[in-house]
Amino acid sequence: MQYNKKTIRDMDMSGKKVLLRCDFNVPLDKQTGEITDDKRIVASLPTIRYLLDQGAALICCSHLGRPKGEWLPELSLAPVARRLSELLSVPVKMAKDVIGDDAKMLASELRGGEIMLLENLRYHKEETKNDPAFAKALADMADVFVSDAFGTVHRAHASTAGVADFLPAVSGFLVARELEMLGDSLSNPKRPFVAILGGAKVSDKLGVIQNLLEKADVLIIGGGMSYTFNKAQGGKVGKSLCEDEKLDYAREMMTLAEKKGVKLLIPSDALAAAEFAADATPVPCSAFDIPDDLMGLDIGKDSIELFTKEIANAGTVVWNGPMGVFEFPAFAAGTKAVAEALAKSDAVTIIGGGDSAAAVLQFGVADQMTHVSTGGGASLEFLEGKVLPGVACLEDK
Ligand code: ADP
Ligand code: MG
Repeated sequence: MQYNKKTIRDMDMSGKKVLLRCDFNVPLDKQTGEITDDKRIVASLPTIRYLLDQGAALICCSHLGRPKGEWLPELSLAPVARRLSELLSVPVKMAKDVIGDDAKMLASELRGGEIMLLENLRYHKEETKNDPAFAKALADMADVFVSDAFGTVHRAHASTAGVADFLPAVSGFLVARELEMLGDSLSNPKRPFVAILGGAKVSDKLGVIQNLLEKADVLIIGGGMSYTFNKAQGGKVGKSLCEDEKLDYAREMMTLAEKKGVKLLIPSDALAAAEFAADATPVPCSAFDIPDDLMGLDIGKDSIELFTKEIANAGTVVWNGPMGVFEFPAFAAGTKAVAEALAKSDAVTIIGGGDSAAAVLQFGVADQMTHVSTGGGASLEFLEGKVLPGVACLEDK
């Protein structure tokens, strides 16, 4: 896939009606309906301010939650319009519908430097089905499409990809930054390139392992998925997460690594416990010889040392997936040590995946990373080397 896409800087936006796909999928308080975290709205401000300054008339759109085609009032974007208006200190006109008469009228009357927001895109089932008539109705209100919701670019929906069939399409600053960071780190990494994978299951990350084996110099596997690799090498993993139907796959990957000259590292030791619980007693053991009544919940001390040494030598590190059940403090040491090693390193450091991003935040090192991707699913599909419909539809530079 080509990552070198046109951005809003590559097009004259003055006087243009711009359909801007934002990620305003914010958490709401179930009782009061208030926005409990406005991070995503704040993140969209640089793109919005730039476009307004350029004299564009901004028609913003987003989904919120999963109304699945039902007009659920509790998933209205009206609270987002109010918050956006406060943050920008300008009025944000809220449409009563998505492609209906009210939206069309507001859009047609909108002038350069003004901003409006359409109702929740997913009030229409046609959005997630990428219905061409729905996409065309959205596109008809505007002259240009700007994609700035990275969290949805892996989906071929009407507002993420479909509209680009009818309008010139470029990226906003958020998507441009993701493409620059994830695209560069994968296609042109500073070496040695160390990829670290963890998380619960091998089967979630089959494509990621394979794609990274093509690109990385070192591939580190930790977390729940590592026990399948330990077992594939003849180890005993007790009650640990292990996917027996993926043992052959793990062996294939080890053979592929050898062929490609990629150093594949798996944990040598573990912190195990009798049950999956925050108050379980941690028992140090070999990751190849975990007692039958125990399960591995974190990597052990030797593994931490092995992994962090590789990080210290790296030119680029891409990290997806925690090393253990970091949600339990007694089993967070492995994930914390990796996060801190990344923070200390001079390498380009890229974090992808929802739980990994949560981990670097939790350990207070997020701002010491080169880039923490905002797209959980989208960043994973990026690491798999898949074509992302919401990126492929943008104009090449
Ligand atoms: P990401 O969202 O960063 O892609 P994943 O969703 O793949 O990461 O995995 C994160 C989850 O994996 C965490 O909730 C963590 O508790 C779990 N996990 C990590 N190691 C283990 C383990 N040894 N046993 C069970 N669960 C684990
Ligand atoms: Mg996750």
